[in-house]
Amino acid sequence: MNDTSATTSITLITGAARGIGAATALLLARRGHDLAINYRRDEAAAEALARQIRGLGRRAITVRADVARPDEVEALFSAVDAGLGRLTGLVNNAGIVAPRASLAELSRERVRHMFEVNVFGLIHCTQLAAERMSRSRGGRGGAIVNLSSRAAQRGSAHMYSDYAASKGAVDTLTLSLGHELIAEGIRVNGVRPGIIETDIHADSLPPGTVAERLAEAAQGIPIGRLGTAEEIAEAIAWLLSDASSYTVGATLDVAGGR
Ligand code: NAP
Repeated sequence: MNDTSATTSITLITGAARGIGAATALLLARRGHDLAINYRRDEAAAEALARQIRGLGRRAITVRADVARPDEVEALFSAVDAGLGRLTGLVNNAGIVAPRASLAELSRERVRHMFEVNVFGLIHCTQLAAERMSRSRGGRGGAIVNLSSRAAQRGSAHMYSDYAASKGAVDTLTLSLGHELIAEGIRVNGVRPGIIETDIHADSLPPGTVAERLAEAAQGIPIGRLGTAEEIAEAIAWLLSDASSYTVGATLDVAGGR
């Protein structure tokens, strides 16, 4: 292990090469965290982000792993141990949607994969983080933030009800694990974003319609616009920080009033 300081925040963000994960990594670096950048496909983007973080004076490593693959998740956490030291923060950010579909079109394979990434992957990462953070195992405690979605509470009829259900499971896990892990000095909380400008929408909306559909959706949001990844990062950073020291098992809506 290479734990350079007893007070440094060492934070792993899953799926951090772009979007909300990347914005969170940059904000946390500015707030003094060392970062482990997990990515699945885009090594170049992950490396570019790590270079930016090092330029801010923090340590950064990149680790390829698919959070749906137990062997790769084990290897991810071993790489963080070896590269940065004992973890104090985890952002369960990796998540997928799928092309819009109604009930009859939800194949077993699609729903299984959705839950393997959005729910099983999150549970596995949280288990391995808790092993490292738990005070009863010599850890320093820590904070975990789960990315949910407003879809968990609004549903997503004829779009991706499987995604909405997977985020409903995330909300319930945040509550249960928040209550369970606080005894170990680990605060678990969540963020429920509304519609945020990232590339994720290209995976659910028909090609060529994304900009138009998002512009339409923006009109239905009380604040009158989409959110930015940086606005979600602010909420995540707050939940990871001591400023939220009395917040446990909560999920915060960051959705422009939607
Ligand atoms: P994004 O731009 O599509 O980023 C998702 C990231 O997750 C990508 O870097 C992706 O990497 C990674 N990822 C996907 N599957 C993975 C896996 N099996 N293992 C490791 N990494 C994986 O989406 P985003 O908008 O930033 O979303 C981040 C989180 O916020 C997600 O959990 C999403 O559900 C949630 N959220 C987003 C919105 C929104 O409107 N944007 C709203 C509510 C909630 P690869 O491309 O390499 O797979």
